[in-house]
Amino acid sequence: TTPDGLRWDKAVCRYCGTGCGVLVGVKDGKVVATQGDPDAPVNKGLNCVKGYFLAKIPYGQDRLTTPLLRMKDGRYDKNGEFQPISWKQAFDIMEEKCKAALKAKGPTAVGMFGSGQWTIWEGYAANKLMKAGLRSNNIDPNARHCMASAVFGFIRSFGADEPMGVYDDAEHADAFVLWGSNMAEMHPILWSRITNRRLTAPHVKVHVLSTFTHRSCEVADAELIFKPHTDLAILNYICNHIIQSGAVNEDFVKKHVNFHKGVTDIGFGLRPNHPLEQVAGNNGYAGADGKPKGNPMASSPISFDEFKQFVSTYTLEYTAQLSGVPKDKLEALAQLYADPKTKVTSYWTMGFNQHTRGTWVNNMIYNVHLLVGKISEPGNSPFSLTGQPSACGTAREVGTFAHRLPADMLIANPQHREVAEKIWNVPAGTLRGEVGFHAVQQDRMLKDGVLNFYWTTTTNNMQAGPNINGERYPGFRDPRNFIVVSDAYPTVTAMAGDLILPSAMWVEKEGAFGNAERRGQFWRQQIKAPGEAKSDLWQYLEFAKRFTTDEVWPAELLTKSPQYKGKTLYDVLFANGEVNKYPKADAAKVNAHAWSGYSNDETDFYGYYVQKGLFEEYRKFGLGKGKDLGEFDAYHKVRGLRWPVVGGKETLWRYREGYDPYVKAGEGLRFYGKPDGKAVIFALPYQDPPEKPDAEYDLWLCTGRVLEHWHTGTMTRRVPELYRAFPDAVVWMHPKDAEKRGLKHGDAVKVASRRGEIQLRVHTRGRNKVPEGLIFVPFFDEHRLVNKLTLDATCPISKETDFKKCAAKVVKA
Ligand code: SF4
Repeated sequence: TTPDGLRWDKAVCRYCGTGCGVLVGVKDGKVVATQGDPDAPVNKGLNCVKGYFLAKIPYGQDRLTTPLLRMKDGRYDKNGEFQPISWKQAFDIMEEKCKAALKAKGPTAVGMFGSGQWTIWEGYAANKLMKAGLRSNNIDPNARHCMASAVFGFIRSFGADEPMGVYDDAEHADAFVLWGSNMAEMHPILWSRITNRRLTAPHVKVHVLSTFTHRSCEVADAELIFKPHTDLAILNYICNHIIQSGAVNEDFVKKHVNFHKGVTDIGFGLRPNHPLEQVAGNNGYAGADGKPKGNPMASSPISFDEFKQFVSTYTLEYTAQLSGVPKDKLEALAQLYADPKTKVTSYWTMGFNQHTRGTWVNNMIYNVHLLVGKISEPGNSPFSLTGQPSACGTAREVGTFAHRLPADMLIANPQHREVAEKIWNVPAGTLRGEVGFHAVQQDRMLKDGVLNFYWTTTTNNMQAGPNINGERYPGFRDPRNFIVVSDAYPTVTAMAGDLILPSAMWVEKEGAFGNAERRGQFWRQQIKAPGEAKSDLWQYLEFAKRFTTDEVWPAELLTKSPQYKGKTLYDVLFANGEVNKYPKADAAKVNAHAWSGYSNDETDFYGYYVQKGLFEEYRKFGLGKGKDLGEFDAYHKVRGLRWPVVGGKETLWRYREGYDPYVKAGEGLRFYGKPDGKAVIFALPYQDPPEKPDAEYDLWLCTGRVLEHWHTGTMTRRVPELYRAFPDAVVWMHPKDAEKRGLKHGDAVKVASRRGEIQLRVHTRGRNKVPEGLIFVPFFDEHRLVNKLTLDATCPISKETDFKKCAAKVVKA
């Protein structure tokens, strides 16, 4: 506490996956200031412009403070106006609609869309409620749109999710290669560590690959602007160069690598009858008759010589011609990887992940690093960055995807379900084995009236999801469906729903996030939420009180396990076992040096330390499996721990002896996610995307973010300084393309695709310089919804949407 009554406590930035530590200054029950935490190892006291204004995010004028229901004549009406109601009324209507959907069609009729912004225990509680309580696997996080391709890439190549490296690679590498990542705007503080290394160590090189020139190119030694989608070919060319120049690390490859060839006729994840789809279904790859046959992730072993033969067609000439990148730049890039003396860290984000071949392109960057053995050691790292603060900690590790359970386990695997049922203390057979609807499938199932009770929480998918006009909005407004939206502000998604629940945000609750380098970080509750706003955790637990097991579980389960009969889902899932084991006194201890004077709202309400109970139960999933998290209390004392945490000690480079406790002395390196300890190099080809510019829609449309706004701008557009810095989305266009259409900088234009159109102003200069034939539109602006234009094509393996390329046109408004 400072003499003027300002009290400071540690927290984590609410925005991006960098996971900067912040200090939060509170006075008279209000956050009045934040600053970068000098003791935080991630950011060492720095914050980006969004972080500097964090103090203002809880205080937007239109903060939601009471539940709101669409009503007419005092009753719920799908076409009514939003009216304030009590929490009791809100849970009454939710209970009625959810039970009606379950009764009519069973668990597949209910679903939830969540977030990489969930705190760890909120995502864990939601996962448990949906999968074990309501027995529906239709829960998916918005991380599906963000890094599902990275998840599948890791699992496929290494048998285990998440990066082997850490941010410390930034201080060890001799070269950085950015693949489809504008870190200068999207991960600015991690970028500051890279620029620091680049500017203080003269030998260090930075190569940036992108489909347009952006701010990260400003410190680049080489800028490689490639034609959309041709990164697949460039990666194969690099492998070819490595092999042809004799730079393969043969000892490493022999000891640690297998070679496989993947199936290739896998389609684009569109609806099966979509004119741009090539296969008959979106969950399997096509056979000779065009019908889906099997698993698009399937592969078969090949030899090194077969791989060598496969990539040999990706010559320098062919790749330069296909990608549009000059030969000398391609060669210099390949040589960085090939040179045994150069330690290379590759970073990527949405350019790789949001890609109709997203899993492949993730596999293919590992191919490069594995061929030369540049992996799992300081400075040599293929590093997948995440966009959200807990995309790793909650979406991935907690397993809130429709196909997952915690600790990389799969819902379709009977042994994995058995493990989860034991830890969750529910009868054998409670969990259902079929994979639930993923994000894009949820939109389609809402539109088709298959999914009828839908709860979206901590995300704004009516703005961030693809093809809003075609799939998503019609599903929300369909009279067969009841849509609940939990949020702190009236987002586009909230206003399209039927019931809005006001949520507590950030330091209005005790929380935990896990960032992109496997670092779990906790914070205490600092302030009270306004009005009737409540944490998402409280919302799930209270909703669980509305169902008894007899209502939602089949009779045979309860006949076999009568002790569960008549209990509420709250009793079964949240008020027993590990979850209610820890007394309020534990919370008081953790919060003893916090200023607040109370533990946290949920502990006070339930009478036990619910966050600790949930975390300690969740922790059991990963212990001994290379996913070990530390004890709950440890995180409140430190600025984060990187898993696996064994004996209280965090792990920096995974799979490497001397760093990773799972690798024994003498093993050197072991990719222990795979039964034989070997990673896989995949032979995968370049293929065209589903939609390309043509005579009518003659431009590539790429979407993304800007420095000042985070994702859909729900928080940052309510911070006056950030709003003024970048008030409205614009379309960046090459001056020659503008001239051809009679346009100049600042003109109002219509941007249209086959799916919709929006109006905005054209920019031909500024921070982004796009090449001829491509336009870029950010998605932060709720008044200019670029996702009305995007195509809902996905990587057929990861089901992640390609937001980076579709065909569009621009005309004067
Ligand atoms: Fe750090 Fe990201 Fe927050 Fe900026 S937005 S302060 S880079 S965590």
